[in-house]
Amino acid sequence: MKSLSKAAETFGAVVRLDTAAERLIIDSGRRVVGVVARQYGQTVTVRARKGVVLCAGGFIFNDSMIADYLPDCLENASKTGTDYDDGRAIRMAQAVGAAVQNMGSSEISTPVAMAIAAPSVLVDGTGQRYINEDAYGGRLGLASRQRRRNGVFLVFDEHIHTDYLAVRERLGVESISALAANRIMPRATPTWVCETISELEESAGIPAGSLETTIDLYNKFAAKGEDPLFHKEPRWLRPLRSPFAAIDLRDANYRMFTLGGLRVRPSGEVLDLDGFEIPGLYAAGRTSAGIPATNYVSGISLGDGTFFGRAAGTHAATSNTG
Ligand SMILES: Cc1cc2nc3c(=O)[nH]c(=O)nc-3n(C[C@H](O)[C@H](O)[C@H](O)COP(=O)(O)OP(=O)(O)OC[C@H]3O[C@@H](n4cnc5c(N)ncnc54)[C@H](O)[C@@H]3O)c2cc1C
Repeated sequence: MKSLSKAAETFGAVVRLDTAAERLIIDSGRRVVGVVARQYGQTVTVRARKGVVLCAGGFIFNDSMIADYLPDCLENASKTGTDYDDGRAIRMAQAVGAAVQNMGSSEISTPVAMAIAAPSVLVDGTGQRYINEDAYGGRLGLASRQRRRNGVFLVFDEHIHTDYLAVRERLGVESISALAANRIMPRATPTWVCETISELEESAGIPAGSLETTIDLYNKFAAKGEDPLFHKEPRWLRPLRSPFAAIDLRDANYRMFTLGGLRVRPSGEVLDLDGFEIPGLYAAGRTSAGIPATNYVSGISLGDGTFFGRAAGTHAATSNTG
């Protein structure tokens, strides 16, 4: 951030601190020509000769927008983002006719560390696998959260648990900041430990025989390094052996942030409900519905915000304002 700020100032950008944009100003031709903002407790206006680029983050901390677009986020979720991810910029643009897109899309991180998920078996309340357990954490999170009301269980064995504890120890998890470390690699304390899968079924309320069938099939192919159902990488495949354990993920806390936002062109131009550009208005980052809104993986939000933010700035600076 420091390098970006320094570069912007070198090119003549003026930085205004403690300045929160509140409303857009439009002229009689519907062109966005400035903003009304609060600066050190005063209302100020800023004239935009070329355009306004909105890049004020998402809306995870706007309870009313969350209730409208992501009501599932109201329970068992840790909302994450900057304090000002309050959807203000999205609302400002909507007030001048902007359309929104993919507002129900969010990043949902897995509530268990990927290091223990990958060699384990994730099943739903009927004992069925639903994903390759070595998938990206956001995909595990999304798929698991969708099923959590009917049951989500991470099933592993003593061997996997021991390996996981060794990884934690090797990375010095106990010695670094407990909060940060435990977010990345939680303790993975089993909810149940059982000698047999049928005991586990009974404890978890999974229909008798269904998890047994799943584990039998998984083990049969894992022994050959194969996963014909979900194509997990062979390095994570090993048959599960007694004693077994499972973590109940029904009440797990999932970390979330929003990905939907204003509908934009690749140039950053904001579109209205009819699909026309709103003259002088641009958006980038999580104020817009960019690439992450359909397919989030780590890095893609910062990459998208930087790339398309630059494109928006360039387009605005070189546009013919008439
Ligand atoms: C724990 C965590 C881990 C993450 N890991 C990754 C990762 O590995 N890779 C990745 O790509 N993404 C990651 N993300 C997501 C990524 O950090 C965000 O999606 C990204 O920072 C969004 O950038 P942005 O510029 O759109 O918004 P923000 O970074 O939220 O910046 C918006 C800025 O606008 C300011 N602002 C807000 N409202 C106003 C207003 N009204 N007027 C003026 N200024 C305003 C805010 O103060 C803030 O400075 C992670 C997020 C979290 C929470």
